[in-house]
Amino acid sequence: MGKIELKQVTKRFGDAEVIPPLDLTIHDGEFTVFVGPSGCGKSTLLRLIAGLEDITSGHIEIDGKDATTLVPAKRGLAMVFQSYALYPHMSVRKNIAFPLKMAKMDPAEIDRRVEGAASVLNLTAYLDRRPGQLSGGQRQRVAIGRAIVREPSAFLFDEPLSNLDAALRVGMRMEISELHKKLDTTMIYVTHDQVEAMTMADKIVVLQAGVIEQVGSPLELYRAPRNTFVAGFIGSPK
Ligand code: ADP
Ligand code: MG
Repeated sequence: MGKIELKQVTKRFGDAEVIPPLDLTIHDGEFTVFVGPSGCGKSTLLRLIAGLEDITSGHIEIDGKDATTLVPAKRGLAMVFQSYALYPHMSVRKNIAFPLKMAKMDPAEIDRRVEGAASVLNLTAYLDRRPGQLSGGQRQRVAIGRAIVREPSAFLFDEPLSNLDAALRVGMRMEISELHKKLDTTMIYVTHDQVEAMTMADKIVVLQAGVIEQVGSPLELYRAPRNTFVAGFIGSPK
């Protein structure tokens, strides 16, 4: 579970073709990073996969099924937002449970999932606190917990660490990589930070102006960048 295929996907905003026809396969269980400069279309691509934005043409398949016209909730994916999207007046428990409450899930099952996510994220001792009583890293873990309880086939992260300070960011990178190992689920992670891409990815997708310049492992991109853009962006010697 967690295979995502984009086939000749395009996106226009008015006259601007932000994503020209694009093909991409994201394999089951892979940690894939979309990297590229600001404005190159990383968030748009992620939002198209999530269904938060309609594609202009093409097809999206998730686990072999056409998902092109499915609403976000039916895609089995979970988007992780930055921690400031938490509800300040709700406890950690209620924040994590929120998407399941909205889906009217059985309360016993909600408790089971919230406690499971809290355990994976080392948040068990903080379930009754409010976000304001947590550190920045703990708040980011709550935001991730909200995605975990939905048991998605893939997690979508859009620059989740960009509002954390540098030291915390390094720690959270490692936590997210650990989480990927524990859950063994597809993750797509958007960043403009080359170091983040090189240290976290199984596979990197380098984007420029909506075009995929290269797809490969960090080592492949470092050793054999396809062009000077990739070389310059990854910091390898071409
Ligand atoms: P990134 O996440 O890589 O910084 P985005 O996907 O946010 O880039 O944006 C890619 C391009 O699409 C930019 O030129 C941006 O201005 C444009 N864009 C993004 N969202 C919209 C929108 N809702 N309406 C019009 N243009 C948009
Ligand atoms: Mg963005």
